[in-house]
Amino acid sequence: MGTPLVDSFGRVHRDLRISVTDRCNFRCVYCMPEEGMDWTPREEILTFEEIERIARVLVERFDFDSIRLTGGEPTVRARLPILVAKLAALGVDLAMTTNGATLGLMADDLAAAGLRRINISIDSLRPDRFLELTRRDALTEVLEGIDAAVAAGFDPVKVNVVLMRGINDDEILDFAAFGRDKGVHVRFIEFMPLDADGAWTADQVVSRDEIVATIGAAHPLEAVTRGHDPAERHRYLDGRGDIGVIPSVTDAFCGACDRVRLTAEGGLRNCLFALDEVDLRGLLRGGGTDDELADAVTGNVAAKWAGHQINQVQFIRPAKSMSQIGG
Ligand code: SAM
Ligand code: SF4
Repeated sequence: MGTPLVDSFGRVHRDLRISVTDRCNFRCVYCMPEEGMDWTPREEILTFEEIERIARVLVERFDFDSIRLTGGEPTVRARLPILVAKLAALGVDLAMTTNGATLGLMADDLAAAGLRRINISIDSLRPDRFLELTRRDALTEVLEGIDAAVAAGFDPVKVNVVLMRGINDDEILDFAAFGRDKGVHVRFIEFMPLDADGAWTADQVVSRDEIVATIGAAHPLEAVTRGHDPAERHRYLDGRGDIGVIPSVTDAFCGACDRVRLTAEGGLRNCLFALDEVDLRGLLRGGGTDDELADAVTGNVAAKWAGHQINQVQFIRPAKSMSQIGG
């Protein structure tokens, strides 16, 4: 039994998000610039052994029970199933967020290595719009990836949709129908000011209330009590599944946030919107002990703020974009 990792607001942290790479085979307009993304040099990226060691310290010292792999695009990291097997051996609930484009090839290997849950991001079901949004003509591959994930037995398979006003907000009902037909859980995410171009404006956010009202008018819904998940769930009254909505802007879940994030180059961040991070890679490569790693983690989490202030004038955008922090 470890010591709970508590911040000054009493929140206990047990959920680790690991960005395994900042590279990506897509260039989503709300996440990366089309050109000129400087990838972190390989030698600065944590090795699998380094990632495993940090994860083990969090599990053994602080009872972390949940790990999610993300990026960048985690599936572009070579030999990813080897890392999955190492982390699965820690006995945690292991999940991944992916753009899904290569899951048709990798889903079975990832499942065999011990990955249990998967979230696949897809922001349009229309090929031309998908191309505009991701700058890749890969809708067919992603749809095949979703089918491959279901066939490989991931449970649940969730589909993440970032809604943007005037861009894809006319597809809310199409996504609802997609989830109902395929038996996958669709989760709508409010667009956050973490886009690489700094073009985010509040009027581009499609709110939780609007999403739930739009879907509920077509397929009546009832709210499900919220647990430790930032997504609010709403169940279809006809029994054909549910939707999730992550009101990250209009009603952020900061009060119950139990996450810390490890960037690809080994920075520990206590919030998506944190303005600084602690350098665990330097500590590891400098011969730091597990005690020193644990102390660095404790100090970082102790300094966590009450919550982001996107809707306040004093909000400061982090210098890094979502793909660099690990979404
Ligand atoms: N490449 C993987 C993917 O796309 O699922 C994992 C990394 S991606 C940064 C993680 C999640 O962040 C995706 O669901 C993506 O849609 C979401 N995301 C990226 N930029 C965002 C933004 N500015 N606002 C809200 N969500 C965003
Ligand atoms: Fe890549 Fe994911 Fe960012 Fe899209 S959202 S550019 S797939 S990291």
